[in-house]
Amino acid sequence: MCKGKVLPPRVEAMPGRLLGRVGGMEKGPLSAIHSTSIFMAVMKNNTGAEIIREFRRLEKQREQTLDDLLASEPLLSGSLSVVKRRCGKANCHCAAGEGHPQLQVVFLEDGNRRSRIIRNADADKVDRWATAAQRFRSGTAQLKAIENQQKALLIGLRTARSRIYEPRN
Ligand SMILES: [Zn+2]
Repeated sequence: MCKGKVLPPRVEAMPGRLLGRVGGMEKGPLSAIHSTSIFMAVMKNNTGAEIIREFRRLEKQREQTLDDLLASEPLLSGSLSVVKRRCGKANCHCAAGEGHPQLQVVFLEDGNRRSRIIRNADADKVDRWATAAQRFRSGTAQLKAIENQQKALLIGLRTARSRIYEPRN
């Protein structure tokens, strides 16, 4: 199993970077590259050998992606962001200016949008959960993309192998 190859590497807990990272869902790197190679394989449909090779390659990727999805980890519900909050101490510098940056999770509970401040001691753990949730989302999308490509290859294989009966003298 080679996790790093298929899914984005884990980003270390850095509240400053969370805002930019958590919101956006990157598209899997698969689609552009592999649809080209599938296209090539389908176009060269002589014996179907290339299609089969490509199918097997995708199958290995599918298995890796699935292994990653099935690895059990808590998945954070909601998304993380950094908010600034005043601590309430009269002699703190934040009383006059900006609050202290704190990690916040926004999530849905019974259809209601809720938010909760993450304790500093829990920040690493919650960030791991957020990373795991993001990997799960992109892994699911990747699995679907691979399966779509496999379907396309099977159609190509059927085309490559279909024969019209011609009686010979
Ligand atoms: Zn303060």
